[in-house]
Amino acid sequence: MKCIDAHAHLLHDHKGFHEIAESGVFDEIWLMDLNGICLNGLQLATTDEVCDAVKAHPGRVYAFGHLDFSKTPDEVDRLKDLGFIGLKPYKPDTHWNDEKFYPFYARAEELNMPVLFHTGMAVSAGAYASRQGKPYGYGPSGMRPGYLGGISEAFPNLRIIGGHQGYPWFEETVQNIYYYKNIVHDISGYRHFDQLHELLHSMDRAANDGTGRMFHEKLLFATDQFYGMESENQRALKLKEFWSLFFELIASVYCRWGKPEEAEKFFYGNAFSLRNS
Ligand SMILES: [Zn+2]
Repeated sequence: MKCIDAHAHLLHDHKGFHEIAESGVFDEIWLMDLNGICLNGLQLATTDEVCDAVKAHPGRVYAFGHLDFSKTPDEVDRLKDLGFIGLKPYKPDTHWNDEKFYPFYARAEELNMPVLFHTGMAVSAGAYASRQGKPYGYGPSGMRPGYLGGISEAFPNLRIIGGHQGYPWFEETVQNIYYYKNIVHDISGYRHFDQLHELLHSMDRAANDGTGRMFHEKLLFATDQFYGMESENQRALKLKEFWSLFFELIASVYCRWGKPEEAEKFFYGNAFSLRNS
């Protein structure tokens, strides 16, 4: 099964990533640069390490640059010049649809760079806020999936990826997928049984975004693993296995969908066409 891991990270001093990248398990891995921050006690790669990983695996590893809103919008140009194919902001001090961020989105739209927005709950990352020179942190409420709708309306040609499924605001994720032609979501992260139940039912829905797509054509497989240590590397492989079996043994048995051609879009085709649009 062809497969793109459309949302992953790289650890500082990573081990085993080159082997995974060349193993053929994933046709592409998209690394999100968070530029040396520490999450869950794990130190993430520097921008140089992320760029080196891309250079080491041309056509197989791609990266999204860390969009730091404390900089000026020409930061988008700089990230494009570094070879990043998209952008990854994180933990806004207000919310994703604050107009003060619009000049960044406008430039991303002009340069045709997709933006992956984290949606829903997030691990505590107070250190991220202090690194930005702020005395306090930001929880998940500014990253509710509903904020992406306004960005979609303002920038109809911006390719928007909602990271994860926006838990606990899954209804807002459903609205994003249903109404907005330029919003897709990746399914990485939360796998609570309630969420899987919702996903099973919603994947069979038709979107109303003018493109004639079904929900499973607007969802991307992703692991959100921190590649570079044995346990995280192994978990990425397990997640591919888990979702393959989810389609084969649950979705196509208990629901109408989950056929091989539907799985192909979920694992590969949706992300591939997004990258090439
Ligand atoms: Zn992530």
